[in-house]
Amino acid sequence: MRTLRVAVVGSGPAGAFCAQILAEETAHKVSVDVFERLPTPFGLVRYGVAPDHQKIKSISASLGEIFETPGVRFLGNVTVGSDVTVDELREHYDAVVLAPGAPLDRRLGIAGEDLKGVVAARNFVSWYSGHPDADFDTSLLAAERAVIVGVGNVALDVARMLVRTPDELRRTDVPAHVVETLADHAVREVCVVGRRGPESAKFTNKEFLELAGVEGADVLVSPEELALAEEHQARVAGQPAVARLLASLRKVADREPQGQPRSIRFLFNRTPVDFVGDASVADVRLACTTDPSVVEELATGLVLPAVGYRSVPLTGVPFSEATGTIPQRDSRVIDGDDIVPGLYVVGWAKRGPSGVIGTNRLCAADTAAAVLADAAAVPERGTGSAAIDDLLRSRGVAVVDWSRWLAIEAAEMELGRASGRDRIKLHDRADMLVAAGVVPAQAASSPTRTELPLGASAAR
Ligand code: NAP
Repeated sequence: MRTLRVAVVGSGPAGAFCAQILAEETAHKVSVDVFERLPTPFGLVRYGVAPDHQKIKSISASLGEIFETPGVRFLGNVTVGSDVTVDELREHYDAVVLAPGAPLDRRLGIAGEDLKGVVAARNFVSWYSGHPDADFDTSLLAAERAVIVGVGNVALDVARMLVRTPDELRRTDVPAHVVETLADHAVREVCVVGRRGPESAKFTNKEFLELAGVEGADVLVSPEELALAEEHQARVAGQPAVARLLASLRKVADREPQGQPRSIRFLFNRTPVDFVGDASVADVRLACTTDPSVVEELATGLVLPAVGYRSVPLTGVPFSEATGTIPQRDSRVIDGDDIVPGLYVVGWAKRGPSGVIGTNRLCAADTAAAVLADAAAVPERGTGSAAIDDLLRSRGVAVVDWSRWLAIEAAEMELGRASGRDRIKLHDRADMLVAAGVVPAQAASSPTRTELPLGASAAR
């Protein structure tokens, strides 16, 4: 039986599930190479799921089994687009499945968005998740008030992480510098701004209940705003999820503030019209969406828009600027009306940035089905793993394979043990590559250190 050779670009849940479904196929023999630009696998499971959601993150264990399945290889630290192009992958494999996720941010498109202090929530998420490319200026946490725009689950993750106590942070795998910074920052009030009413919030009841139970912060919901939403809900019956969420919001709205050191305040029916300041943001002007003549100013030095993500164009691959996704028909990439032979898409790059991890399994099943349905018609062109390995070697790419990733993971566990924590993530790419054994130790940016006790001087 001929072996169908498939390349998957991206090792997040969508790419990993797709690799798994293909590798488990019995009607064909399938080998899958999963390319990942980072030295680490799992995409948003590692760098998006909040660190205080270790239970959700534990899905890494089952995703990891996928890469230990015979016929599936992990090729980390390989950037498709520069180390190897999509066209080259199409020459070397029978099918190429794109699973690059949605690594860019949607913009609000209002004045002042580029002022210092207006930072996409993703940058903060990447920073606290120890992403090697994170770009977040921690001096912004000197602001007394932070404003989060958007009321989705990302907004709640960010709000929660801003108020977590040091002990809670130390139960996560965040790097030591993240614990130190978040244990002692100036933000006292976090405002979460939704452009519609509470009945239209995108966050889930489960996430809201978790937020409502955080230590160290009062969660504040205006009873008046909620009353409007409850009236609306009474008119639109038959939305049990909305009814549950409103009931949870009501419990919180009726609670007396406990005088906690921090607070999280929900502001519904408001949208930012502009950000005001000289070089840095000083105020957000919020218009009331039910009466745009009402505009209020909120003083702040840190605004974190959490208004959704976009995919990124890949050289040689069609892209829809309008939707921020790769155009496709039944998971097959299309260029205008024409199917691009041998090119498929899965995950957020296919359907936009929505859904939970499990949603990607269904999405991956559809994409894998398309790959397999086309298999018989595909002329044999896969050249074998050795050819792609030779190509990457000739370009000096330090590939992190699965065993080398396990060495990074072991180094993280060791770092955790040394500081009395289960695990501490490596956050510097050079340190990861040293731990993986693909570059010599001199390349590490800084000696990997154990954590200082909280309260000790961070100067070093
Ligand atoms: P999301 O759920 O789509 O929420 C985006 C929020 O931004 C919405 O409140 C939206 O309001 C608002 N928004 C969009 N454009 C805006 C604009 N121009 N001005 C003001 N507000 C604007 O996206 P997300 O929070 O980034 O989450 C992405 C996906 O990941 C979701 O499916 C989410 O459930 C999932 N996720 C899950 C978890 C978890 O399960 N724990 C954690 C994180 C993320 P409108 O509704 O009015 O458009």
